[in-house]
Amino acid sequence: AKASGRGTCKRIEPGMDAHLKARQEMKVSLRHALKNRALELHYQPLINLHTGRITSCEALVRWKHPEKGPVSPAEFIPIAEETGLIGPLGEWILRQACTEAAKWPSQVSVAVNLSPLQFRNRRLASVIRDILSETGLEASRLQLEITESVFLNDSASNLLILQQIRQLGAKIAMDDFGTGYSSLSYLRSFRFDKIKVDRSFIADLPTGRESLAIIRAVAGIGRTLGITTTVEGVETQTQLDAINAEGFDEAQGYLFARPVPASQILEIVQSSRE
Ligand code: C2E
Ligand code: CA
Ligand code: CA
Ligand code: CA
Repeated sequence: AKASGRGTCKRIEPGMDAHLKARQEMKVSLRHALKNRALELHYQPLINLHTGRITSCEALVRWKHPEKGPVSPAEFIPIAEETGLIGPLGEWILRQACTEAAKWPSQVSVAVNLSPLQFRNRRLASVIRDILSETGLEASRLQLEITESVFLNDSASNLLILQQIRQLGAKIAMDDFGTGYSSLSYLRSFRFDKIKVDRSFIADLPTGRESLAIIRAVAGIGRTLGITTTVEGVETQTQLDAINAEGFDEAQGYLFARPVPASQILEIVQSSRE
């Protein structure tokens, strides 16, 4: 808890009990969902801005709660992280994504989000290696999206795990770039294959001067260091024009496609290669 002069963290709110109870219930039904295959992966394409082709698709987990309906991963991933469920959940996501991607044309990769808490499993790299050989997916077609929080705790051993994953031949992307405290300094700790600028820097383009300055700097870093640069959350043509003007390599967003179920993404990637 943060030390706050006003003691805001200690205040007991009337809704607190109900809130904790809701979380507890969510945890139980999430465990149930994982066991009973009530989770599903959707996939959203990333477009190469130089060729216009799909380079990869990001796997995004979906949960349809029996009573509540769809629950956002932004809501249930943190609960999975708090309850230790992220281990088995993360493995299921990896296996599922690699199984699907193995059916795609070989030029299309799959991007999977890794929670920093999955690094608590010191055997993460060998788990990934086993999943690759089980599913027959070439390692170079697996991209792992990590956030800088991987470097906050246990950074030395997490770095080692990252290097082991890289040695398998998989690619590592820094996700949500710019939203943390020191995204820039982590570029020195590890040679990322890809930088993915967070959606918040795209939302106010082309007028947002600060956002524009920041994405321009990122594009320059990518060019200089030979790192692929990507943006997420592209919704409008004017945003795309601004990104193209800065020379980004890839983009992802509703302007191109929304995340869709596995069967639909298979059709999309197959027809895009024709
Ligand atoms: P993220 O990794 O930053 O993923 C991008 C999010 O932006 C996704 O939300 C995606 O659906 C959404 N998005 C894509 N294009 C657009 C756009 O043009 N406009 C807007 N407004 N949004 C767009 P989603 O699927 O709700 O996921 C939210 C977050 O939950 C993800 O953020 C990621 O941090 C986490 N997450 C999702 N799936 C997984 C997973 O399989 N494993 C882990 N560890 N985390 C996941
Ligand atoms: Ca991501
Ligand atoms: Ca993001
Ligand atoms: Ca993320």
